[in-house]
Amino acid sequence: MSPSLRVTVWNEFRHEKKNPDVAALYPSGIHEAVAAPLRALPGTQVRTAWLDQPEHGLGGDTLEQTDVLLWWGHGAHAEVSDAVVERVKQRVLAGMGLIVLHSGHYSKIFKALMGTTCSLKWRVATDKERLWNVAPAHPITQGIGDHFEIPAEEMYGEPFGIPDPDELIFISWFSGGEVFRSGATWRRGHGKIFYFRPGHETFPAYHQAEVQRVIANATLWARPTVNIPDVCPNAPALEILPAA
Ligand code: ZN
Repeated sequence: MSPSLRVTVWNEFRHEKKNPDVAALYPSGIHEAVAAPLRALPGTQVRTAWLDQPEHGLGGDTLEQTDVLLWWGHGAHAEVSDAVVERVKQRVLAGMGLIVLHSGHYSKIFKALMGTTCSLKWRVATDKERLWNVAPAHPITQGIGDHFEIPAEEMYGEPFGIPDPDELIFISWFSGGEVFRSGATWRRGHGKIFYFRPGHETFPAYHQAEVQRVIANATLWARPTVNIPDVCPNAPALEILPAA
């Protein structure tokens, strides 16, 4: 039986190779930590891809066979080829779901789909993060309760240079005093996009149950309802019209 949901988890996969602290937290890479809980979803096929593979692991028909793409990038956004970014963008516009994680806020694909700076305040100082669920009826927050805490995280603060979200899902408070729109959705074309903030590479957020639950819920929520590649057709009339 073919899987009903085909997921690709994309990771830059550089910090894990250069920083022993990151490698200790994510010995198989951040992509495997993100992918493992998704593999437990019934009927789901999960692949991984990373920057240093040919075409960043997104060549051939991989994107066409992806229903939901998850994206973690940080220090090498500029190394992602514009051609691959354009193909991802066209797939989102056709209906593919996209989940952008943490420092992916500055990825080429997120900035291309948002059309804004996507800039924010940041601080690596072991803040506590409290994420408030401001959309308790939304599929992404099921099983989460009205808030949860991440004991140690990088701070991201407002203002966040995004267009007003279609739906605001989480607002974070940090122990240093800032707040941040840490979960938000948009539609672009036929595709659904979810940005989710946690996941700095030197902290273990992707091993935390609530974070895994949100990502799993979001992956199911973002699944396509249609696949309609872009066309701009010259359409014949349905009725007989006077000559132009
Ligand atoms: Zn970070």
